Amino acid sequence: MTTQVTSSPPIAATPPPSVDSLPPLESCPALVLNADYRPLSYFPLSIWSWQDAVKAIFRESVTVIAEYDRAIHSPSTQVKLPSVLVLNEYVSVSSTPAFTRFNVFLRDALHCQYCGDPFKTHQLTFDHVIPRSKGGKTSWDNIVAACRKCNTRKGHKLPEQCSMFPITEPREPTVHELQETGKRFPPNFLHESWADFLYWDSELEGQI
Ligand SMILES: [Zn+2]
Repeated sequence: MTTQVTSSPPIAATPPPSVDSLPPLESCPALVLNADYRPLSYFPLSIWSWQDAVKAIFRESVTVIAEYDRAIHSPSTQVKLPSVLVLNEYVSVSSTPAFTRFNVFLRDALHCQYCGDPFKTHQLTFDHVIPRSKGGKTSWDNIVAACRKCNTRKGHKLPEQCSMFPITEPREPTVHELQETGKRFPPNFLHESWADFLYWDSELEGQI
């Protein structure tokens, strides 16, 4: 969130009664849900800093669903830090995902589409299945995630020239498919109050 609000009352952190018993403010982000109570995004997960979350509360653009056991105060008021927020107005989500490097990697679940290995950070590359030098387009149906080793091995060859075919035939994903894939990569930090909103469907599946 980039909007800055200057009309909010000044917020100051409450001196903690016991330093050991309270988490630092920086580790109290808020999960942000759309007005339909689904996260705006799973990967990266839609979270706001406590500062942005508190500003949104004063702007009355969100409703607090769950809170941390931690408060901040201004001279006139006290606010419990929110752990889950829902937007009061629904933000429409595009039905067509943007064709970006990030979304290609997400569609392919961060796995090389030739050898199937999961990516290490330094290995993030993508490959034209039909090389550009042979008329291949830079498009959803011709770009796949590939590790550096496979990318180098394939070079400017056609799949049939080097017997390297993508594990999954590349195509444009839906936003829903990207969201589902994103759920497989939980962030490092997960507050207990987030679980119901992130994984409620998988919980139900597990109980059937
Ligand atoms: Zn590979």
